[in-house]
Amino acid sequence: MKIGVSSGSLEVLKRKIFKKDSPTTLYLLIGSKCLNNCAFCIQARNVRKETIMLSRISWPPIDLEELETLLSEFNPFKRICLQVTNHLGWKANIVKLTNAFKKYNLPISISAPVEDLEDVNFLFKNGVDRINISIDAAEKELYEKIKGKNWKEKIDLIREASKIFPKKITTHIIVGLGEKEKSLVELIKDLSCWEVKVALFAFTPLPGTPLENLSQPSYLKYRKIQIVTYLLQNHLIDSEDLTFDKDELILTKKILEKAYLYFHEIFKTSGCPYCNRPYYNESPRIIPYNYPRDLTKEEIEEIKLTLEDG
Ligand code: SF4
Repeated sequence: MKIGVSSGSLEVLKRKIFKKDSPTTLYLLIGSKCLNNCAFCIQARNVRKETIMLSRISWPPIDLEELETLLSEFNPFKRICLQVTNHLGWKANIVKLTNAFKKYNLPISISAPVEDLEDVNFLFKNGVDRINISIDAAEKELYEKIKGKNWKEKIDLIREASKIFPKKITTHIIVGLGEKEKSLVELIKDLSCWEVKVALFAFTPLPGTPLENLSQPSYLKYRKIQIVTYLLQNHLIDSEDLTFDKDELILTKKILEKAYLYFHEIFKTSGCPYCNRPYYNESPRIIPYNYPRDLTKEEIEEIKLTLEDG
């Protein structure tokens, strides 16, 4: 069985060196071309390219046996994340892999094409620690246009799954798909009430996809969303503290004063524990949207300036 290993994870495994911005989670891609058709995704059904990319990362395929050999030689990872495309036989592949990975005694996160509670039950029964049910696009109309699926069904599934499996559900949200800040924040507020972990991504245009000409979000917009997401997820503010000018989120003095205490944490990658997704949305040469490591004092000061200038 071939498995895609994210280039960053593979570098750690092959060079047996762990740097401060190396992946703390082992990221694996299961299945290639997806039966779904998300407009931002390079593995979508209608994208003609055959590629080993997902977002801006390459995932070279290797045999499961080779992966196991590499892991027996060097394994600094704290979690395994299985990114599963919608392909025929994905459930059988998951059973095989969760069995094979039991010996590492690492929590497994899975991002799979779950459609209903039966799928969710199936994955937890097979020993996964957390399930990501991706929303990606944070508004009903955008979601249905970009993902071609039913918004209400997906939100209901997340809410129901989070009731049955408290604190075990994650959701990916992409900032910059054209959503209004107000809708985005209100969705994150609901998810935080349901104890669903929010993993924020910055939209990344990929050549060959229908959204290839859309820009990445501004840093100001992304930082504002990171701040409010952190505060909502940790129940440090509630809905009365949120202020909008029409659809735009306003960071009030009260919010900023609270947030300053957590600036060393807020801008780091969000999601499952130990998930740092290095350079998933941006080149290592530019300012990270999500820091995969601790921030320096200078980086924190730069973020304060971005917020003041905005
Ligand atoms: S938040 Fe990270 S570990 Fe969790 S499912 Fe998403 S990519 Fe995987």
